[in-house]
Amino acid sequence: MSSSFVTPAEARVDLSAIRHNAALLKEAAGGAEMMAAVKADAYGHGLVPSARAALEGGATGLGVATVREAVALRDAGITAPVLAWLIPPGEPLDEAVAKGVDLSAGAPWLVDEIAAAVRRTGRTVNVHLKVDTGISRGGATAEAWPDLVDAALKAQAEGVIVVDGVWSHFACADIPGHPSIDRQLAAFDEAAGILPGVRRHIANSAALLTLPQARYDLVRPGIALYGLSPIPEMGDFGLRPAMTLTARLALVKRVPKGTGVSYGHLYTTDRETTLGLVPLGYADGIMRNATNRAQVLVNDQRFTIAGRVCMDQFTIDLGDHPATEGDEVVLFGPGDRNEPTCQEWADSLGTITHEIVTRIGTRVPRVHVRQGDRE
Ligand SMILES: *Cc1c(COP(=O)(O)O)cnc(C)c1O
Repeated sequence: MSSSFVTPAEARVDLSAIRHNAALLKEAAGGAEMMAAVKADAYGHGLVPSARAALEGGATGLGVATVREAVALRDAGITAPVLAWLIPPGEPLDEAVAKGVDLSAGAPWLVDEIAAAVRRTGRTVNVHLKVDTGISRGGATAEAWPDLVDAALKAQAEGVIVVDGVWSHFACADIPGHPSIDRQLAAFDEAAGILPGVRRHIANSAALLTLPQARYDLVRPGIALYGLSPIPEMGDFGLRPAMTLTARLALVKRVPKGTGVSYGHLYTTDRETTLGLVPLGYADGIMRNATNRAQVLVNDQRFTIAGRVCMDQFTIDLGDHPATEGDEVVLFGPGDRNEPTCQEWADSLGTITHEIVTRIGTRVPRVHVRQGDRE
């Protein structure tokens, strides 16, 4: 057992991997600019360090969901363009406007709210108008689009806003060949056609990497920046996973054959064996359906979670492996050491990597390193 202090668990984030991925994506984007999607704490990787690494790699701006996320970037001293794209009615906008955050609007009422904030703060806002081309989520429908454009052009004529972008989002860019892709591109061209000269953007990671015709003036990769494939069936695209999630064995003990393990005794030892206790649970984002399913690495050997994942901890059956308290348990990482990847976790849990990394809880410190600096 190590006597020096170690954290019970940590998410190590290799910023040089994020920078590498950003550079690779910028290259793939051709001449388009790149807005790095850093919403949800940079997909769980830590907002500010990840944003800086993406900017180092060639991103020219940052995209977030909420106004609060945008303000957090500004408060950290980041001066690059930041776009916030999910704004409910009544959202306080003055601080973001005063700090030079760009805002998305998908309805005339939001143009009005932005204009009101501009009048209060005295600072003009760059607005990106959002058109719903077929995802049926945010943005104006084709029917509502002309009214939104009218409201925005009127506010622009008054000098209150600058219409700086027209944008949309794909429903199925991660399903190559899906018929909705071409329909969305056609609808996007038609909507953007009434705003000549305004920057256009629609591509997420999957579209950026597989649809050259979707790159337009700006691309908005998220998941690929963190080194996780937007289309796992097509491979890793040369991306490098940035996050390694580890813990230290909190307890190791020998138990007899026939021992029931964790809540509900969903696992029973089939021989005398050694159990290891891992101090991470569903409160930390280790999903409960990882019970008896997901794998971890201990000293170069893989073990499957044994029994119920609890709120703060889970157990593994180490067999006769000579692990001791304090030994490192790797839940996932880039895969260099035969540890599981985040993609393997996602596959075994029936979800996508986005959900695995964004759910890692606040109890798990993000430790930022630059281990992959090979350039
Ligand atoms: C999250 C998000 C992205 C990035 O998507 P990825 O699939 O992670 O690349 C781009 N645009 C919008 C509007 C988003 O919400």
